[in-house]
Amino acid sequence: VKLGPDGSGTPVGVPGVPDGPGGYDVAVVGFGPVGATAALTLARAGLRVVVLERESLLSDDPTESRASTFHPPTLEILDDLGVADRLHEVGLVSDTFQYRDRTDGVIAHFDLASIAGDTSFPYRLQSEQRNLVEIIDAELRTLPNTTVVMGTEVTGLRTGDEGAELSLSTGGRLHVRWVIAADGASSAIRNSLGIAFDGITYPEHFLVVSTTEDFAALIPGIATVNYVSDPVEWLVMLKTPLHWRVLFPIPSSDEAAELALRPEEVQRRLQAIAPLPRAYEVAHSRIYRVHQRVADRFRVGRVLLAGDAAHINNPLGGMGMNSGIHDAAAATEAILSAEKGDTALLDRYEETRRAVAHDYVRVVTHRNWEVLQEADAEERARQNEHMRQVAADPVKAREHLLRTSMLVSARSVPQD
Ligand SMILES: Cc1cc2nc3c(=O)[nH]c(=O)nc-3n(C[C@H](O)[C@H](O)[C@H](O)COP(=O)(O)OP(=O)(O)OC[C@H]3O[C@@H](n4cnc5c(N)ncnc54)[C@H](O)[C@@H]3O)c2cc1C
Repeated sequence: VKLGPDGSGTPVGVPGVPDGPGGYDVAVVGFGPVGATAALTLARAGLRVVVLERESLLSDDPTESRASTFHPPTLEILDDLGVADRLHEVGLVSDTFQYRDRTDGVIAHFDLASIAGDTSFPYRLQSEQRNLVEIIDAELRTLPNTTVVMGTEVTGLRTGDEGAELSLSTGGRLHVRWVIAADGASSAIRNSLGIAFDGITYPEHFLVVSTTEDFAALIPGIATVNYVSDPVEWLVMLKTPLHWRVLFPIPSSDEAAELALRPEEVQRRLQAIAPLPRAYEVAHSRIYRVHQRVADRFRVGRVLLAGDAAHINNPLGGMGMNSGIHDAAAATEAILSAEKGDTALLDRYEETRRAVAHDYVRVVTHRNWEVLQEADAEERARQNEHMRQVAADPVKAREHLLRTSMLVSARSVPQD
C-alpha cells in the first residue's frame, strides 16, 4: 500500500474519483445511514474523506420501508453532529409504545417520559433512513475536505500496515490510511477480507404494508408503535410521518410472496386488523428477507466494519440501523484518537461493538420474534403477565425503557 509523503492516500489520477484535497485519509465505503454518519463525523474532525457509493443516485424510492425508528442514543449522536434538528423536521415524535395481544388488546403500555432524566431525547423519532442520508449529504457537500463519489463500487481491497488499497469499478485503485466498510449486508469488503458472517435466515419473509388510513381512529388507545403478538399472525404496527406501517410475517416461498403482494390479499390482511366498510388506501407494500448474522471480525488493521456490513438482525425492536450508527460513532472516535497516537479505542472497537451486536441486538431481536409468536397458551399468559408487571412497576419500567431504547447498549464499554 503506497501512501503520499505526508501519509495521505492517493492524491490524483484515480479514474472516477475527483482529485481530493491533497489526497484522502479515509475512505468510507457505502453511503447508507451508517456510512453517512461516519463520513460527517470524520470530515467535521478535519480528516480528508472520500465516500464511495455504488448507486448513482440517493434512494428516493417511496416503497423502500427499512429503518424508520431512531432511538434516543442515536438522536444524541446525530445532535452532536448538528443534524438532529433537521431530522426532527421530517420526523414524528413517538413517545409511547405498547405490547398488545391480537385477541386480548393492550397488555402493557410504556411511556418514554419515564426516561426523561436519562436522555435529552426521551422518545423514538420515526423518520425514513433515507432522510438522514439526504440531510448528511447536503451537509457534506458544504465541506471542502470531503468528496462523495456516487456510482462507484468498491470491488476489492488489500490491507497493509499503513492502510489499504481499494479496487474500484471504474478500474482505478485508491490508497487510503483508513477504511470504514459501511457497504451493507453483502459487504464486498467483508468478503474481500474473508470474514465469516455466520447466523440464520428466518423461515418467514416480512411483508411491510404502508397505508394512509389512521389506525389511531380505528383502534382506540393504540400507541404510535405496537408489537402485537399472535400465534398465527403477529404484527408490528407503527406510525411514520406519512403512513401507518404494518409488518406481517409471510411464508418464504416465491409463490407466497407473489400472493401476499396481490391487492386483495393486502386488503384481507388489513381488514382483519380493523374492518373498514370500504377498501384501505394502500400506499405501497414490500417484502423483505430477514437474517440474523454477526461478522467474526469487526476490524482488520486499518479497516473497520460498521452497520449491516458487520451485523444484521430482524427489525423487531428497530435496532439494526441504530446499532450501526453507534458503530459509526465508535469507529470514528477510535480512528480520531489513533490519529492522535492513542490506539486503545481502536484495539477495543471489535470487542465492544461485536459484543453489542452478538450478545445484545441479536439476542433481544430474536427474543422479540419468539415472544410475538408464542403458541403455548400458558407461556403466552405468563409472558403477558410479566410485561403487565414490568409496565406497572416504575423501576422495572424505566429499566425496560433504558434497554429497549438502546441507552444501555450504546453506553456500554467492556470491563477491563
Ligand atoms: C423491514 C425492515 C425494517 C427495518 N427497520 C429498522 C428500524 O426501524 N430501525 C433500525 O435501526 N433498523 C431497521 N432496519 C435495519 C436497517 O434498515 C439497516 O440496519 C440499515 O439500513 C443499515 O445501514 P447501513 O448504512 O449499514 O447499510 P445500508 O443502508 O444497506 O447501506 C449500504 C450502502 O452501501 C452501498 N454499497 C454496497 N456495496 C457497495 C460497494 N461494494 N461499493 C460501494 N457502495 C456499496 C449500498 O448501495 C448502500 O447505499 C430495518 C430493516 C428492514 C429490512
